[in-house]
Amino acid sequence: MATDVREFLESYDLYTRFQPHKSVWWNGDWPQVVEVLCRACGAKRSHRVWPTKVAGFTLEWGVYMLHGACEHCGTDGVIFWVEVNQREGWMQKAGQLPALPASARKQSLQPAGSA
Ligand SMILES: [Zn+2]
Repeated sequence: MATDVREFLESYDLYTRFQPHKSVWWNGDWPQVVEVLCRACGAKRSHRVWPTKVAGFTLEWGVYMLHGACEHCGTDGVIFWVEVNQREGWMQKAGQLPALPASARKQSLQPAGSA
């Protein structure tokens, strides 16, 4: 089950619902490690994940921020924002930094300008 959530974190696009259709689809645990692109390393690296619930006061719905630190260089990381709907049995990404390589295929190297 943790593998499924890990796969979701590693590969799903924003706002794409992960909906496993299992009676117990998520036990509240996040994977300890995800393997995603590290900007500092310029390659896929294992990132250790720290989850924090940032919105939602019930068990049924919430938004989590997951911060992952690159285990290789230790200087860069990844951040996910994930909306979880326990009652309906789905979760989806509301944000991710850096973006997935597929979404950032243009590789714009220009920093966001300050006007
Ligand atoms: Zn790194």
